[in-house]
Amino acid sequence: MKFEQVLPPFVKIIEAQDMLYKPKNPLKIRVVQNTKLVPEDYEEDVRHIILDLKNTNYVYTEGQSLGVLPPGVDEKGKPHKLRLYSIASPYGGDPDYPNTVSLCVKRVVYKNENGQVIKGVCSNYLCDLKEGDEVLVTGPAGKHFSLPEDPNTDLIFLATGTGIAPFRAFLFKFFYQNHPHNAKIYLFFGTRYKKDHLYANDINNDFLKLKDDRFVFYSALSRENPNKKIYVQHLLEEHKEEIEEILKRKNFIIYICGLKGMEDPIIRFLRSFYEKTYSLTLSEPEWEEFFNQLSRLNRLVIETY
Ligand SMILES: Cc1cc2nc3c(=O)[nH]c(=O)nc-3n(C[C@H](O)[C@H](O)[C@H](O)COP(=O)(O)OP(=O)(O)OC[C@H]3O[C@@H](n4cnc5c(N)ncnc54)[C@H](O)[C@@H]3O)c2cc1C
Repeated sequence: MKFEQVLPPFVKIIEAQDMLYKPKNPLKIRVVQNTKLVPEDYEEDVRHIILDLKNTNYVYTEGQSLGVLPPGVDEKGKPHKLRLYSIASPYGGDPDYPNTVSLCVKRVVYKNENGQVIKGVCSNYLCDLKEGDEVLVTGPAGKHFSLPEDPNTDLIFLATGTGIAPFRAFLFKFFYQNHPHNAKIYLFFGTRYKKDHLYANDINNDFLKLKDDRFVFYSALSRENPNKKIYVQHLLEEHKEEIEEILKRKNFIIYICGLKGMEDPIIRFLRSFYEKTYSLTLSEPEWEEFFNQLSRLNRLVIETY
């Protein structure tokens, strides 16, 4: 069987904005709000940070990232390099915060091999910012993680942790800005506990407010129940029939965003679907080619870090 008979056709995505600000000419903007997305007693810190874009010409398309230049120098005495953060708000800003851009930032803290506590440069800088502080930003960056032009395209959003950010931007564009969309939207979201289920916990329940027949939200919690670790791929298996129906209709985009480690099991799920449904036995190089084709056709879009 030729791949063409199995693969969905090319789908056009919304053209994203060009980069306006580079590290050599960054834009200085102010913090409007910096709030926790997890409870005070939770072992990690994740923040929703709203930045002011009033009186600037910073434009972006949902799915793009914003670069942040942390102040100071690295161990070689060179200015710190920029870090990218997926934009978590639709263009225009969060409801109630016009002309802003929002980020969802996890504070990186870990112990090195000598047991020393190391704090990530940029995430700690961002998480500690106060209202009114100034930040140097670049971007917008990235053009592949974009919504389809065709509103009849089924969307499957797969996120872990802060990988939820671009999906919040997409969902808010549909729900608060009435961006047309007639097909299904599945959000599969994985975190460790209920407490760090970002935008769907006791601290912030943005996603739980979005109610509509088109939208289906499935949560995977990997540590809440020590006897039953649930990851995004387990949910995909659990809801296989719904997802396979969508894949068979051949007008979908699958988006993956979050931890790098989430990719492989999801890709295996997809491979197994194609092999079983179309009675294919693909060698590794054949599967690689098939996978690359899915990406070129804009049917599979990945942003992991
Ligand atoms: C396209 C893109 C989008 C992104 N979007 C987001 C987002 O929406 N939200 C978000 O929070 N982040 C996002 N990131 C990640 C972000 O860019 C930074 O990498 C992150 O905030 C860490 O930066 P830092 O300066 O705090 O840490 P750094 O000072 O750069 O240190 C990070 C480094 O520390 C090491 N490290 C980290 N944890 C451990 C550990 N447990 N054990 C050992 N070593 C470790 C790793 O080598 C890592 O590279 C995104 C990245 C990309 C590429």
